[in-house]
Amino acid sequence: MIDDRPVMDDHLHLDPDAHRGIDAVRDFARVGGTHLLVVNKPSWHLGVEAETGADFRPVFERTIEIVDEAASELEGNAWPVLGVHPGLITRLVDDRGFDPEEARDLMQAGIDVAAEYVDSGEALALKSGRPHYEVDDDVWAASNAVMRRAFERGAELDCAVQLHAEASEDMTEVADWATDAGLPSHRVVKHYASGRLEGPIPSVMADKDRLQTAAERGEPFLMETDYIDDPDRPGAVLGPKTVPRRVRWLLENGFEEAVRMAHVETPKQVYSIDTEATLERD
Ligand SMILES: [Zn+2]
Repeated sequence: MIDDRPVMDDHLHLDPDAHRGIDAVRDFARVGGTHLLVVNKPSWHLGVEAETGADFRPVFERTIEIVDEAASELEGNAWPVLGVHPGLITRLVDDRGFDPEEARDLMQAGIDVAAEYVDSGEALALKSGRPHYEVDDDVWAASNAVMRRAFERGAELDCAVQLHAEASEDMTEVADWATDAGLPSHRVVKHYASGRLEGPIPSVMADKDRLQTAAERGEPFLMETDYIDDPDRPGAVLGPKTVPRRVRWLLENGFEEAVRMAHVETPKQVYSIDTEATLERD
């Protein structure tokens, strides 16, 4: 551990069936990582071509199993974040002959199933969003409708919703949609964020420039790697040791308050988790 501190990666993937899996968790723990939010991989990466909401279950259940195993390697804890990757809509419409409304219905059904796992306490939060690339207006509208369904479920369950979305530093409109649905904007997290963001809480990619911006800004933020645990894309994202290493770097540079913000205060505010109480200190 790093001075008995909780150190949390807010968004990564683990795929023991294809790549490093629990070894990546051990790497994270060895350099001081203590808490993980593990997001299910996109369903089609696991060979699942969903036709109904229930078809997402194996993806969610595998993620829950992996998280149990991950938690046993950590001095803190790990939690699953479950949902439907927004890129699925392109796959459905372009490759599988769905029209945007059919794709919307299937993806909303997947969100509803993910919400069942939150309701039963097996998952911590939901994952949704919209494509980060240019799409047709009807696909965009369908994607926004899926995201709004996730906000409705999040509001009912009082749980956070992580978003995968376009690069932006102002998503107040989206945060307003959440608020309209009854989900406070502090329960909405934009994953893969830069160091500043209006609207949702930024889950900041753990590179030094972005972190310095977030730390100096002084607003709530989280830290993540988006590690994808994919042997075919080794350099696509940051490795599992990155968040603990960047915590050390922040502390060496006097950003003590920011480290507490990202690993204690913001996790409490967003997810209602207590990263300090869940830490086994010897
Ligand atoms: Zn991801």
